[in-house]
Amino acid sequence: MMTIWASRRSRGKLLRLRRGQWRNLIEELGRRGEGRRESGAFLLAPRSEKSHVTRVEYYDDLDPRCLTGNIHFHGLAFSKLWDICESEGLVVVADVHTHPGASVHQSAIDVENPMVACAGHIALIVPHLATRSVRPRQVGVHQYAGDDGWTSWFGREAAARIGVTRWPWP
Ligand SMILES: [Zn+2]
Repeated sequence: MMTIWASRRSRGKLLRLRRGQWRNLIEELGRRGEGRRESGAFLLAPRSEKSHVTRVEYYDDLDPRCLTGNIHFHGLAFSKLWDICESEGLVVVADVHTHPGASVHQSAIDVENPMVACAGHIALIVPHLATRSVRPRQVGVHQYAGDDGWTSWFGREAAARIGVTRWPWP
């Protein structure tokens, strides 16, 4: 019983990252935000394995002027992102951005402006501008459901949806 339950739970992960990848993501977000402004990134995965994050594209690499305190990502930068997806055979499965303080709830702007307005798209919010190490249970996991808005998970519920594991995939 335990095994079946455990494997069901692990199949239910929305996103999986290797431990080093996760640590690097948090460190990069913190570095790019310099402890005083929000930063963010897109998480990309192969078309065939959409939960397995294989590439991270930081907002400020795609649009060098976008970190303005909060984030103003310009539409033109999306064409760079789609080019990467097309040439690498990847899809954008999630975005991640930082908030100051401990709250990882969405702002009104976050709710109104999904970075990718496709049902199923995931938005992660990382606390404390990623200036310290962050575990999955500290992150807000928000899934866009189109006209139905967003479903959000926090704490243990959030951690249950983000798999951070050692290589190889569980
Ligand atoms: Zn936000």
